[in-house]
Amino acid sequence: MITLSERACAKINLTLDVLSKRDDGYHDLRSVMQTVSLCDDVEIDVDTGRPWKLTCDAASIPADERNLAWKAARVFFDRIGRGPDGIEIRIRKRIPSEAGLAGGSADAAAVLRALNRWAGASLSTEALCDLGALVGSDVPFCVLGGTALAEGRGERLTKLPDAPELQLVICKPPVAFATPALFKRLDSVEIREQPDTDAMRQALQDGDSVKIASLLCNVFEQAVSDRPEIEAIKAALLRHGALGASMTGSGSAVFGIFRSPEDAKSTCKALRTNGLQTFTAKTV
Ligand code: ATP
Repeated sequence: MITLSERACAKINLTLDVLSKRDDGYHDLRSVMQTVSLCDDVEIDVDTGRPWKLTCDAASIPADERNLAWKAARVFFDRIGRGPDGIEIRIRKRIPSEAGLAGGSADAAAVLRALNRWAGASLSTEALCDLGALVGSDVPFCVLGGTALAEGRGERLTKLPDAPELQLVICKPPVAFATPALFKRLDSVEIREQPDTDAMRQALQDGDSVKIASLLCNVFEQAVSDRPEIEAIKAALLRHGALGASMTGSGSAVFGIFRSPEDAKSTCKALRTNGLQTFTAKTV
């Protein structure tokens, strides 16, 4: 038996634009995505000699074949055409769920990367991303990591210059937004503000943190404008000196970019109240 360990890093969306609705009912997205240091820990025992097993320290996450990490292992072994003599996946969760931080996708991507290492890197990164797309639309980005432009449903990736090290505070309020409902809402409201993706690319190229912070924009915020939680967290982050703040993905987590790790740390502590989960993180 062999044990593999892999970090499963969350993502944030520096920009998120929803373009047209497609004939198949999905929407085309355009988003600058960024890996951050907030992570789950994934361990995999391969060849346990026992039936497949998954454990997770968060009670709300399914610990069976519904788990995205389990699905990722399944598609990986199907693809390479050989199965192990049993595996056990252990997940230590830190990434909050229903946050827009791609927690489940990060775990799935960590499983794909770890198993590919175990299999002697038999699949290219591109092939691994294609496999990831079978598990979920954020999985390919989580496989690739770093800074990238995601298009289509999120599976069409273009590598961008790595963001400079950004000091972040991530806040998750005790609310969850159903993603399909947000898309529906966007279809019925006029989108007033859209991200300037090209300017964001340029700011990344220049390594300009202040500019990056000023260009944060997520159109989904306009679909939750009737919810006070998001605006309240953004306002609090800005009051504590954030250079910019935005919701990530379809929420409900919000992040702010700070000038220094000290500023991020003190803000994180100040905003930690009953029900509001707060984390410091940086871009990786
Ligand atoms: P996204 O940013 O992709 O919208 P999310 O923030 O909504 O993701 P996830 O942590 O990915 O949240 O969880 C979404 C749902 O996926 C959960 O309700 C959970 O039941 C299910 N799920 C399946 N596998 C996992 C996993 N390994 N970790 C977390 N959730 C998982």
